[in-house]
Amino acid sequence: DYLFKLLLIGDSGVGKSCLLLRFADDSYIESYISTIGVDFVSWRKFPSCRELSDVIWDTAGQERFRTITSSYYRGAHGIIIVYDVTDEESFNNVKTWLTEIDKFATDSVNKLLVGNKCDLTSKRAVPYDTAKAFADEIGIPFLETSAKSATNVEEAFMTMASEIKKR
Ligand code: GDP
Ligand code: MG
Repeated sequence: DYLFKLLLIGDSGVGKSCLLLRFADDSYIESYISTIGVDFVSWRKFPSCRELSDVIWDTAGQERFRTITSSYYRGAHGIIIVYDVTDEESFNNVKTWLTEIDKFATDSVNKLLVGNKCDLTSKRAVPYDTAKAFADEIGIPFLETSAKSATNVEEAFMTMASEIKKR
């Protein structure tokens, strides 16, 4: 029995909490209050990830986030970096989030890039191929997801789980 710690990071409003909610509860809330920074989940009994042992939603506002940053990254086994496929800035900021990871997480931490809200096809601003090329360049897996339509959410967490398990 081992506790796995997984972080979801990314700009406010990209859908981190909605992804967690979809994964943990197979539900979706349109009016989730957006949060900056880190959403957090850990679970026991690999790989039956449904047995979430300790779920903390929407950890903090920015100020508090800053003071807890390093402790959140410490001991993380996996980090999902989330952007919103309809928000180019959130994709550009992935680089900043990667810098945070380099600063605070252990070198061996498993990373996964996720482009969320792929259901919003007419509002897409970041092409799949652009993000895929970027992920290949830095050598991390990449998936597009929708917390709303439940597309690839399970796959994203399972990809993360199998990466962690390889270690
Ligand atoms: P966070 O700040 O990264 O935790 O973002 P939230 O999970 O709070 O999501 C912000 C808002 O984006 C939500 O209130 C939803 O309205 C919307 N949202 C999240 N995921 C999706 C998705 O997959 N598709 C669509 N269309 N909207 C989403
Ligand atoms: Mg949130």
